[in-house]
Amino acid sequence: MTLFFKKFILNLLFPVVCVACRRETRTDDYLCGDCFKKLKFYGGKTNLSLKFIDELNIAGDYDNRPLASLIKILKFNAIPGASKPLVAWLSLFWQGLAVLKSPTLLVIPIPLSSRRLRRRGFNQAEIIARGLALNFNYELNLELIKIKNTRAQSSLSAKKRSSNLVDAFKWSGQRPIKRDILLIDDVITTGSTLDSAAETLKLAGAHKIIALVIAKG
Ligand SMILES: [Zn+2]
Repeated sequence: MTLFFKKFILNLLFPVVCVACRRETRTDDYLCGDCFKKLKFYGGKTNLSLKFIDELNIAGDYDNRPLASLIKILKFNAIPGASKPLVAWLSLFWQGLAVLKSPTLLVIPIPLSSRRLRRRGFNQAEIIARGLALNFNYELNLELIKIKNTRAQSSLSAKKRSSNLVDAFKWSGQRPIKRDILLIDDVITTGSTLDSAAETLKLAGAHKIIALVIAKG
């Protein structure tokens, strides 16, 4: 059976529907063209003060329904295909910033612990980072690792969040890093995860750390 035919049969049995409006999409995308246009860039300011992040860029808001739906099915239903419209949209955002600064940015996703990675099968931040690196011709690096099985940040109070993350990350690559970093994550709430990862990278000799997050939680 050819790949095309297989795909045809699969689409008949399990048509891909748009995660936001539930209509069948003609392509394999998890978001239809109309709902893609409803993805909104986040215009608000953030008063998060992060110690180790030099520049924080937040593309969208979790209140934007189509955006939240995409993030949810990527993360909780473990459907990697949902990353396609997310990467496309995040790339539009990144392109729109006048920050296509350094072509030598090193793209690093926030890692998952090995236990969580086994359970989910993939790291959603890594899939997004990979797509972005490809679109902008940046180098992708996966040597930031998570060594502590921390509790889900969302289950903790703000105070406990930062202590939960002490020594959670480790740089397993060459030192010193001596590069500007583009640090990628899906959702930001207090920012303590990003900041803790950034601290680890700075201690390993990273220069400037620019964070790029899909949505404000
Ligand atoms: Zn739709």
